[in-house]
Amino acid sequence: MQVLKFGGSSVANAANIKKVITVLKEKAAGKKTIVVVSALGGITDLLLNCSNLASEGQENYQSILIEIEQRHLQTVRELIPINNQSSLLSFVKTQCNEIEDICNGIFLLKELSARTKDRIVSYGELLSSKIIAAVLMAENQPALWIDSRELIITNADFGNALVNFTISNNNISQFIQKNEAPLYIAPGFIAANGYGIHTTLGRGGSDYTAAIFAAATNADVLEIWTDVSGMMTADPRLVPNARIIPQISYQEAMELSHFGAKVIYPPTIQPVMNKGIPVWIKNTFASADNGTVIQQQVTEGSNSITGISSISNIALLSLEGSGMVGIPGFSKRLFEALASKKINVILITQSSSEHSICVGIDEKNAGTAKQIIDEAFGYEIEIKKVEPLMVENNLAIIALVGDRMKNHTGISGKFFSALGRNGVNVRAIAQGSSERNITAVINSADVKKATNIVHEVFFEKEIKEVNLFIAGVGNVGSKLLGQIKKQQEYLLQNMSLKVKVTGIANSKKYWVDEDGIDLNQWQQLLESGKTAGIEDYVAIIRNKNLRNTVFADVTANEVVANVYDKLLQKSIAVVACNKVACSSGYPYYKKLKELATEFNTKFLFETNVGASLPIISTLNDLLRSGDTIHSMEAVLSGTLNFVFNNYDCSSSFASVVKQAQDEGYTEPDPRLDLSGKDVMRKIMILVREAGHVIEMDDISNSSFMPEACMQGTVEDFYQSMEAHESHFRKILDEAIAAGCKLKFVASYKNGKAAVGLQHIAPQHDFYHLYGKDNIVLFYTDRYIQQPLVIKGAGAGADVTASGVFADVIRTSKA
Ligand code: ADP
Ligand code: ASP
Ligand code: MG
Repeated sequence: MQVLKFGGSSVANAANIKKVITVLKEKAAGKKTIVVVSALGGITDLLLNCSNLASEGQENYQSILIEIEQRHLQTVRELIPINNQSSLLSFVKTQCNEIEDICNGIFLLKELSARTKDRIVSYGELLSSKIIAAVLMAENQPALWIDSRELIITNADFGNALVNFTISNNNISQFIQKNEAPLYIAPGFIAANGYGIHTTLGRGGSDYTAAIFAAATNADVLEIWTDVSGMMTADPRLVPNARIIPQISYQEAMELSHFGAKVIYPPTIQPVMNKGIPVWIKNTFASADNGTVIQQQVTEGSNSITGISSISNIALLSLEGSGMVGIPGFSKRLFEALASKKINVILITQSSSEHSICVGIDEKNAGTAKQIIDEAFGYEIEIKKVEPLMVENNLAIIALVGDRMKNHTGISGKFFSALGRNGVNVRAIAQGSSERNITAVINSADVKKATNIVHEVFFEKEIKEVNLFIAGVGNVGSKLLGQIKKQQEYLLQNMSLKVKVTGIANSKKYWVDEDGIDLNQWQQLLESGKTAGIEDYVAIIRNKNLRNTVFADVTANEVVANVYDKLLQKSIAVVACNKVACSSGYPYYKKLKELATEFNTKFLFETNVGASLPIISTLNDLLRSGDTIHSMEAVLSGTLNFVFNNYDCSSSFASVVKQAQDEGYTEPDPRLDLSGKDVMRKIMILVREAGHVIEMDDISNSSFMPEACMQGTVEDFYQSMEAHESHFRKILDEAIAAGCKLKFVASYKNGKAAVGLQHIAPQHDFYHLYGKDNIVLFYTDRYIQQPLVIKGAGAGADVTASGVFADVIRTSKA
């Protein structure tokens, strides 16, 4: 004997049922087979909706009735030859009339009991099994229809009835003995109590019906035919990268389904496991796929984890109090109280101090649980030995499952650090004593992100995915996008890193695509994007709640710099070439650094000083390895270096500044460079990174710019510089006369920072500094006589973009 179960999606409509018939023709040939079917996909929900509406006195239950009838009639018409349709059509109509009669009764009484609900939903499986039996008949595959309600006997717990196996097994084996047939067909899900009243086995219960038939007939195999090609490493609706598990033990399958893997209804495994019957999960729509086999023995695999599952809508109940310590029977009373209301406990944790006990239950029972437990502990609550029950809603459970877990160390470490890195707060933790699962209670809103990140860590070690949101697509931003596009494949192949640009924004619009923005047409996409400001963009980024999210600020905008804290607080890494945040008031800079530590994420801004030169990272490395910075001397303005290197007698100072701007070396407002303010910001950032508290006012700046040049617009600025050409010539002539070059130098010595134009003699390290290059000299404990020197291009969109890109890649390292 073999038992084949076809789920709701497999029998959802005529086209799908045809696929089922094809599978059956092949599978049932020459082999005794019991086929168990669900209701047509979605019908159980419709029946429940319909009866609920009727009980609420809402007349539109009628339209659902029509939909239910139409779906069945349509299926019959498409499957049965026209001449043979009439008896089945009238059967469908009679059944639908009965449903209508019951619903009318519910509507009049405005009352709907669990018993009536079971009666109503039972029509779903009755109709589907009768229709499929008729189709098989029409296809010359006569099947004997079994009334599951006469064979599977349960108690009267309507909605989730308990099976009496002694009676049911006996009924089934006797029936099969008395009614020899090559092919049987039975409705799943439905049963009856000892008085013949309809009951059901719980939502998804057709799997269970099939397992009951398989166990009672000592079948060789139970096959669950559904719409996925097997049990997967995670719910494929949440994790696109989930993959099929070729084989899995009964216990693992039970744990995964207990914690939410819908592909198999949890009680299904028990009856077949007791008999050692293998269970196959197969795909009706891809019948050649291998599927998953669930059995006792599983070949040793290398992965310590078999799968991940999750359940949402969990409430966490916490009972706490000094009165609980050392007194036996507390937990017993708690569980008895829950059991008295048939509330299923999904997870239990108890702190080792015995001071509190925590249980996870279905959220819909939270109200009842609160009432019953506070009643049960009424006396202790009154004398303040126990606190009233605490209930937290909107939670979810995520579970890691694997038989081989107990032989591996470090699994929980990996699990929780992955969650931590992505800002997923863990409310409670439990590990089954069998060490076959580790579970964490988290916020419902985090389930998708958490499952994906944990899946990535345990199953996709090869590939780490970064969700990059970029703000600013100007000079640097567009270069950055170009570099990413060019490098994506390399990073994937060589670093197993998938840098996905998930969002882009300019000051007016944004475009977000979770599947990754097509970088060949980002301009058009952004153009057609939503009109919104940075706050909206940040809200979207936070709400998307994607794993490994990085925000790259390639603007020079203050408003953008002010959103970093909101991102870091969600464990979203921030990479900035925008200097505003790090050079704003010290408290904000400090806050951002602290948030990054607190929320286990990164705040990187290497390009704030010297574009992509490794200045900040070197400084950080020196300090981390125990060195102390004594002094720093630097040329930090690519613009000013370019200007003074190119300013000679051949053209005016203003025209050289203009050239620097045209070539993209200056800040959007070049006065920031010329005033020395930009250099002040940079030396301040270095001093801060060296561990000192410093503000802009603490830096002395002897500006070489005439006051008058700094007034008005950028245009006025150029005109005024032309007018002051003689001033600039004088500065240049003096330098030439002294045999020196002009460099705008930033320094930090004896706790003082200063910036200003200096005469640089030929023997100085700065003399041979060409073009727009930057240079930094670090004098430290270890570099006493000769400084540590970092020198190279310190401005330009390309190098800045590459520095931002490198920081983005750095965020992906743990
Ligand atoms: P049926 O109607 O055939 O009983 P279900 O909808 O009850 O099918 O179960 C199949 C669905 O279970 C799949 O479509 C899939 O979305 C979901 N699912 C959840 N977790 C898993 C998992 N770990 N492996 C496979 N499918 C899963
Ligand atoms: N039709 C029932 C449900 O939707 C049982 C099943 O499909 O397994 O829950
Ligand atoms: Mg199912």
